[in-house]
Amino acid sequence: MSKITVAIHGGARDETEFIRKNLNGYKQALKESAQIAFELLKRGKPALDAVEAAITFMEDNMLFNAGRGSAINSLGYVSMDSSIMDGKDLRCGSVALLQKVKNPVQLARLILEENHHILLAGEGALSYAKYKGVRLEEDAYFILPHQYDMFMERRDKLTQKEQDALKNHGTVGAVALDAKGNLAAASSTGGTSFNRNGRVGDAAMIGVGCYANNNSCAVCATGDGELNIRSIASGYVSVLMEQGNMSIQQACDYVIHQKNKNAKGDMGLIAVDPKGNVGISYNSQLMHRAWISSDQEVIVKIHEK
Ligand code: ASP
Repeated sequence: MSKITVAIHGGARDETEFIRKNLNGYKQALKESAQIAFELLKRGKPALDAVEAAITFMEDNMLFNAGRGSAINSLGYVSMDSSIMDGKDLRCGSVALLQKVKNPVQLARLILEENHHILLAGEGALSYAKYKGVRLEEDAYFILPHQYDMFMERRDKLTQKEQDALKNHGTVGAVALDAKGNLAAASSTGGTSFNRNGRVGDAAMIGVGCYANNNSCAVCATGDGELNIRSIASGYVSVLMEQGNMSIQQACDYVIHQKNKNAKGDMGLIAVDPKGNVGISYNSQLMHRAWISSDQEVIVKIHEK
């Protein structure tokens, strides 16, 4: 049996009052999410199940900008993106501009399992969700007071330029290595707050918001989606690992601190390699993250490097 490992994140960003107030809640949720995924791996379940379970837990937790508690876009509603990938056979699924689906990652998983199309968006994704019978919720379920207050403040007080400059991250991601040596990755987000209607972020894009390949690594990116898209963030880490002359930590550091050293915005990566080593790198003030493996108890960090 190979080493088993899980690493998760809840977004890379600068400090906010909301984070300060909810520090313990964040720590507890990160710990629980990593442990839920790890328990599945201990019972011999695939990495794919583990990352889906970790993300589902965080989508249900209102502290994170994914599922319940998603950011509100410029028209005043929630529009979610998610993706999931199996490193064993490169099957993947993703959803964009999604509304009403309680757990976007579960819909992405159904697309992966069907193994036909990869990305479904908007109305079509919602029809597919109804056809598959996944759980839907009213709009009010997703919108929570802290996101609503932020939306109202921005709408009433800021110019479009100021609105564009203010970002609200908190996207979630998970990577895992299972006992059979298979890797998987998944991401989910409500996007950046006040984003334009129709904007799709990196979390819906395979090779950007998430990527997994048993020959290289499993990776998730977070931060300003547009920066991650421009630098094909997750796929780039995978390519560096395929070339074989960097550790997973060096590959993540390279993408964040060298390739993107002049990036004007937040970027963060979590990754795991086929041996269960974890890489984590970010350029923001903090990154919500946790990791656990068969030779190490769960570690949770937010501010500490
Ligand atoms: N990357 C996400 C997006 O741009 C936001 C985040 O990671 O917090 O949609």
